[in-house]
Amino acid sequence: MNDKKVVLVTGGSRGIGAAIVTTLVKQNYKVVFTYKQNKEQAEILANSFNNQDEVCTYYPCDVAISDNVKELCEILLEKYGPPYALINNAGITKDNIHINMSLSDWLDVINTNLNSLFYFNHYLLNSMLMNKDGCIININSVSGLRGNVGQANYAAAKSGQLGYMKSLAREVGHFNIRVNCIAPGPVETDMISTIPTKTLDQLKKLTPLRKIAQPNDIALMVAFLLGDGGRHITGQTLVIDGGLSI
Ligand code: NDP
Repeated sequence: MNDKKVVLVTGGSRGIGAAIVTTLVKQNYKVVFTYKQNKEQAEILANSFNNQDEVCTYYPCDVAISDNVKELCEILLEKYGPPYALINNAGITKDNIHINMSLSDWLDVINTNLNSLFYFNHYLLNSMLMNKDGCIININSVSGLRGNVGQANYAAAKSGQLGYMKSLAREVGHFNIRVNCIAPGPVETDMISTIPTKTLDQLKKLTPLRKIAQPNDIALMVAFLLGDGGRHITGQTLVIDGGLSI
């Protein structure tokens, strides 16, 4: 019998999500990850592991659509039972200063980065509670803590995650379910690929550790929180930004 703990990672096809998938597979978890449109990248990632079928599976799921999440959760519960952990990583930005921000850019970002958390918990939480041991981690952002020019939609969604996380942590703690957020500063992924090199160089100079985070810097914190090191940590936001925000 396969006794690996099952972890669901949303948006695992690229960037931070892909690093989380890789790190958790190496740490002997059974990882189920989702993608929205990049099936090819999802396939390449999953195929990079030995015994792929046993350690890693992927499904398409637009996390911004409640019915998509429902469908996926039903499949997962049927196939694997309730997961040990849910990593809400899928996220998007649609930046613009407020006076130029469209309603659809507002809604897309709120639906993807915030409402999706409710959808997954709506369909999974009840059965996760029965395990009496589990983790929910939301990949947040320093924008959610400090706000950011051009990111009213994104900062509102990430900031909303924080209140949601703290409320949930209080509600489910006595079931030994830990709920936390990880708030990265800039991380080298597609998401920041449009930031000019000059701006990134300035950011590095302002960062005490003088570098931009790599996706694995975030993945290692996820692994820590899922492991024994995280067993008494709940309701917290762990900032990973090289000291940029101090
Ligand atoms: P990327 O743009 O590199 O990857 C985004 C991932 O999310 C992809 O796997 C993508 O799938 C998936 N995704 C996007 N929208 C949806 C959707 N509606 N439904 C399902 N999956 C979706 O982003 P990052 O890796 O940089 O970001 C990951 C998380 O980290 C996000 O929550 C982001 O807000 C947060 N973050 C990132 C920072 C950074 O500087 N990079 C800084 C702080 C926080 P597909 O490949 O199919 O498109």
